Amino acid sequence: MHNRITIVENILSANDRIAAENNSLLDKEKVFSLNIMASPGAGKTSLIEHTIKLLSPEFRIAVIDGDIATSFDADRAAAAGASAVQINTGGDCHLDAVMIQNALQNIDLKDTDLLIVENVGNLICPASFQLGTHKNILIASIPEGDDKPYKYPSMYRGIQALVLNKMDLLPYITFDLARFYKGVEILNPGIITFPTSCHTKEGLEPWIEWIRQQLIKHYGSKC
Ligand code: MG
Ligand code: ZN
Repeated sequence: MHNRITIVENILSANDRIAAENNSLLDKEKVFSLNIMASPGAGKTSLIEHTIKLLSPEFRIAVIDGDIATSFDADRAAAAGASAVQINTGGDCHLDAVMIQNALQNIDLKDTDLLIVENVGNLICPASFQLGTHKNILIASIPEGDDKPYKYPSMYRGIQALVLNKMDLLPYITFDLARFYKGVEILNPGIITFPTSCHTKEGLEPWIEWIRQQLIKHYGSKC
């Protein structure tokens, strides 16, 4: 009998199979990969731009940009020095493993050390669709409010690193850091967290150093 839950489970297990293939391909080509998720306006593209500028002297970087429409973000990644592929989802509110599989065919993986996937801005379904990347990253931001871990627990549970962006706005916005971190700790104990501001550039160096260490840990020194 097919009920709605069975159908959803089938879609997700098919997605997970393709995600595992993507992961094997990336490992084979020694490409370390990040899936960057966030709500719209949290600063995904800005953080990716800074990351490209700071890491591109050492590593060859490719970006896959998922958006419902436009190629603005891919254009910014390309201008910052990465090779960029745009996926327009045509209305879909998340990326899935098949979209990534197709996009990977347009990237020279032999000439890539780091792949950054910018997911569609959304805190709900991107948490359910694994892409085959090595790390799932969430960018939260001060203007979103300190209650988001409590409201979007699956997103906060499924990540391996958290960036808390727009720290420069903390003096102007009611945001209880202790409440936020307590919610995160309940869902994802001990998760590594990077408070940053892409505006003042505070906190970017620890984030960059973490990516550098992950790259070395996965594949040793490739360059
Ligand atoms: Mg963006
Ligand atoms: Zn969606």
